[in-house]
Amino acid sequence: MTDYAGLIERARETVRAAQRITAFTGAGISTDSGIPDFRGPNGVWTKNPLAEKTSTLSHYLNDPEVRKIAWQNRARNMAWVAEQNIGHRAHVQLQQRGVLRAEATQNVDGLHQKAGNQPELVHELHGTMHVAVCWDCKDTHPMRAAVERVLAGDADPKCLLCGGILKSDTILFEESLKQEVIEAALGAADDCDVLLVVGSSLRVYPAANIVPRAKANGAHVIIVNGQPTDMDRYADIVINADIGTVLPQIVE
Ligand code: ZN
Repeated sequence: MTDYAGLIERARETVRAAQRITAFTGAGISTDSGIPDFRGPNGVWTKNPLAEKTSTLSHYLNDPEVRKIAWQNRARNMAWVAEQNIGHRAHVQLQQRGVLRAEATQNVDGLHQKAGNQPELVHELHGTMHVAVCWDCKDTHPMRAAVERVLAGDADPKCLLCGGILKSDTILFEESLKQEVIEAALGAADDCDVLLVVGSSLRVYPAANIVPRAKANGAHVIIVNGQPTDMDRYADIVINADIGTVLPQIVE
C-alpha cells in the first residue's frame, strides 16, 4: 500500500525549501471545475471519437460540417461558466509567497488567470479558448463575441474583416505550438529548483519535454496526477491521488 502521508510530507518539505517553482498543469487540475479531460474515463475523446475531428486542423478548415459541430461545442462549453478550484488556488498561494517562477499549462480554459495568477507568469502551451482568430488575416477578438453570433443563429461565423474562417486560438492537431510560448515554458523548466506537475498524463509533445528538461537542470520533480504518467521515471516524488485533496497539503 502506498504511503501517501509520507509522500505528501516529502513533497511539502521540497516545496517549502524551493526558491523558484515552475508549475506545469494539464486537464486534471480543471476537472474539479466541471471541465472534462480528454483521455480520462469520462474524457471528451473517450466518449465521442468524432469530437476529435473538430480538434484536427485539416478537418476543421476543409469541412463546414465539422466547423458547425465545433461552434456548437464552443457555445455549450462549460468552461465559459467554470470557476477556479482549490487546485488553482494552491498555485496562487505559491505566487503570493513569491516562489512561482512560471505556470506552464496545457489547458485553454484560462482558470489559472481567473484564480489570480499573473498573466505574464502563465504560458498557455495549447493556446486559449477565450480568443477567436481568423485563419486568413490573423485578426483576433474575444471568443465570446463569436459565440454570441452562433447563439444568434450563425452556424459557422466568418471573420468580419475578411470573410475568412474563424477558429479558436487554441492549438489543433496538425498545428505547431507557438515557438515563443514553448521557449518560455522550457526556459522556466531550465530555471527552477522544483518542477511541480499537476494533472497531466504527460503524453503530448513537445509540452511533456518540460519534465526531462527540468530534471536535466537539477530540479526536483514532483508529479501529482490521478493516474501514473509517461514521465514518472524522471520524478523524485509521484503521488497518484486526488489533486484537490493532495495539492493544498503540499502547498500549505
Ligand atoms: Zn480575417
